[in-house]
Amino acid sequence: MQLTPPAASPSSGYPRPDEDFPSALRQARSAVDLLAQLKIPPSPARFVVLFNHQGGAMPDLSRAVNRLMSHDRLTATGLDELYDEFFTRFLEEEQLREASRRIGRTVAEVADCLGAASGSAKRYGSVLAGFSTSAEQIASLSPANLRMFAELSNAIGTVLSETRKMSDTNRILEERLQLSGREIEILREHLDLLEREAGLDGLTGIANRKSFDIVLREAIAQAQREEQPLSLLMIDIDHFKIFNDAHGHQMGDNVLKLVARYMRECVKGRDTVARYGGEEFTIILPHTRLDAAVQAANLIRHHVSSKKVVNRRTGANLGQITLSIGVAEYRPGEPSSELVHRADEALYLAKGSGRDKVASESEIPTHA
Ligand code: GH3
Ligand code: MG
Ligand code: MG
Repeated sequence: MQLTPPAASPSSGYPRPDEDFPSALRQARSAVDLLAQLKIPPSPARFVVLFNHQGGAMPDLSRAVNRLMSHDRLTATGLDELYDEFFTRFLEEEQLREASRRIGRTVAEVADCLGAASGSAKRYGSVLAGFSTSAEQIASLSPANLRMFAELSNAIGTVLSETRKMSDTNRILEERLQLSGREIEILREHLDLLEREAGLDGLTGIANRKSFDIVLREAIAQAQREEQPLSLLMIDIDHFKIFNDAHGHQMGDNVLKLVARYMRECVKGRDTVARYGGEEFTIILPHTRLDAAVQAANLIRHHVSSKKVVNRRTGANLGQITLSIGVAEYRPGEPSSELVHRADEALYLAKGSGRDKVASESEIPTHA
C-alpha cells in the first residue's frame, strides 16, 4: 500500500520526497526517544516540536527547546506552548494576513486588466472609425467603375453602421468597466479596514491581544536578527474593581480609554501599546534595555497618576488612577511566554510592594 505524504509547508518539517529518507527516519526516532526519555506522553503536537528541533532547520525553536531543557522545564506543557507559539497561532495569523494580501493583489490585478481592456476597446473603436472614413474618401475619388463602387459603398455603409454600433457598445462596456473598477477599489479599501480593525481592541482602539501576540513574535525575531535588546512592560490598573464599584462600569470604561491614550502619548512610534485583557495592558519596547524600559515605565506611571479623572457630566472629581508595572528584557533564544511570564512576575512584585510602583525582573528573587 502506498501512503500519501502530508502536504509539506516550508516549516512543517515533513521530509519532502527528495529528502534523505534514513536521516528523516532517524530524526523521527530521536524525537520519539526524547519524549520517552522525558516521560512526556507523545502527541502529534509534541512530536512536531521535537521532530523539528532534531532536524535543526528552525534555530529559534531549537534554542527555545534547549533553554527549557537546561532549566529542566521541558515538560508536556512546555512542548504544547512551543507548538502553539511556533506552529499554530502565528501561522494561522500569518496565513490569514497572506490570504488577505493575496486577495488585495489579485483584485488590483483584475482592476488593471479591466483598465487595459477598456483602453483597447476604445482604441479599436477609433481605428474602425478611422478606416471607414478613409474608405469613404477613396470611394468618392474613384468614379471609373460606378457599379463596383456602389457595391463597395454599400459594404462600407454596413461596416460603418456596424462600427458605430460597436463603438456605442464599446462605450457602454467602457463605462461598465470603469464602474466595476471603482467598486473593486471600494471593496479593497473595506478589506484593508477589516484587516486593521481585526487587530484592534474595540473599546480603547489600541492593539488587541491577538495582534500583541503577533507583534511580540515579530519583534523578538527582529531583535534576534539584529542582535538588539527588547523589553516588555506589563501594566495593571490599581484597585480598578473599587473604582468600578464606586463610579459605575461606564466610567470604568472611560478610564480604560483614557489610560490607553495616556500610555500612547508616552511612547515612540516603533513601540506597541496593547490591551492584554480586562484592565491589563502591555507595551513592547524594541531597541530598549531593561534600565531604559524601567525609566519609560516610570514616565508612564507618573503621566497617568498626574491626571485627574473628572465626570464630564457632573464635573465631579473622581480622583486619580494609578498603575503598577512589571518590566522584563528579552533573553535571546527564550520563547515569548518566558518574557511575558517574567514581566508578569515583576508586576506581581509591584503590586505586592504597595501599588503605584514599577518593578523590574532584576528584583525577582529567582531571576536576580
Ligand atoms: P489590583 O490593584 O490588585 O489590580 O486590583 P483590581 O481591583 O484592579 O484587580 P481585580 O483583578 O480584583 O479586578 C479587576 C477589575 O477590572 C474587575 C473588573 O470589573 C474590572 N474590569 C475588567 N475589564 C473591564 C472593562 O472592560 N471595563 C470596566 N469598566 N472594568 C473592567
Ligand atoms: Mg488585573
Ligand atoms: Mg488591577
